[in-house]
Amino acid sequence: HNLLQEFTDATWEYIPRDENFAANEMAHLASIQFQNSCSEHLFQVKKRSLPLVITRGMDVDIHPVDLSKPDWRSPIIRYLQYPELHVEHKTRTLALNYLLWNGELVWKGFNGEPLRCLERSEAHQVMQEIHAGECGEHQGMKRLYRQLLSFGYYWPTMKKDAHDFVKKCHTCQVHANLSHKPPTLLQDMRTPWPFHTWGLDLIGTIHPPSDGYIWILTATEYFTKWVEAIPLRKATGAAVSNFIREYIVCRFGIPYKMVTDNGTPFVNKQ
Ligand SMILES: [Zn+2]
Repeated sequence: HNLLQEFTDATWEYIPRDENFAANEMAHLASIQFQNSCSEHLFQVKKRSLPLVITRGMDVDIHPVDLSKPDWRSPIIRYLQYPELHVEHKTRTLALNYLLWNGELVWKGFNGEPLRCLERSEAHQVMQEIHAGECGEHQGMKRLYRQLLSFGYYWPTMKKDAHDFVKKCHTCQVHANLSHKPPTLLQDMRTPWPFHTWGLDLIGTIHPPSDGYIWILTATEYFTKWVEAIPLRKATGAAVSNFIREYIVCRFGIPYKMVTDNGTPFVNKQ
């Protein structure tokens, strides 16, 4: 009700979720799953333009690891430890390329350099770290594969896994170069002048909470892509209208149009 007093005239217009992609994009970033121990994650915005509609409707569980598969290293390690045991011919041949070093399986490498063998979940963690971690640069698949080797890691399917990992990386897709994508899927997001239209979105809830804050309220201006954001402990209509007044109306003037989804705090009519 606070907000409506700011306007002399206001109308409501329903926009389907599919067409409301600017407001939703921050929420997509927030839905990427992090490890529980990770309380803070920095996003580097490499390209300040609206992300792809292609990312819409994607499965957010982006890097599932199949842990049901047995550790590929076990038969080789067992054979190297107990060469007298009867094993398949295949395993004996395979084992020629490996050795045990301080109890760890090591692959002899393309040029004889020792590479530490990782099982699937370790391999996944390492790819996550190198590609998308603190110093990750979201490098391409070939570079990721070369870096894995240069850091001294090995597993038999690493080339294919590096390829699949990059292909499925949500951040890479969000920041992918627009020119690589079919032009028909893009929508014209131009607005007539700066600070004409704002997209509002509520991101959350965030786990684990940061100092009690479990929501992030964002406003994105369509013309300049300017973003305003605040953390919230409670997502209420009053909080939203305060945010709009303080962060948008007071700083940029009364917007001509605001785009939101149908979240409860946005449709409050107190
Ligand atoms: Zn990536």
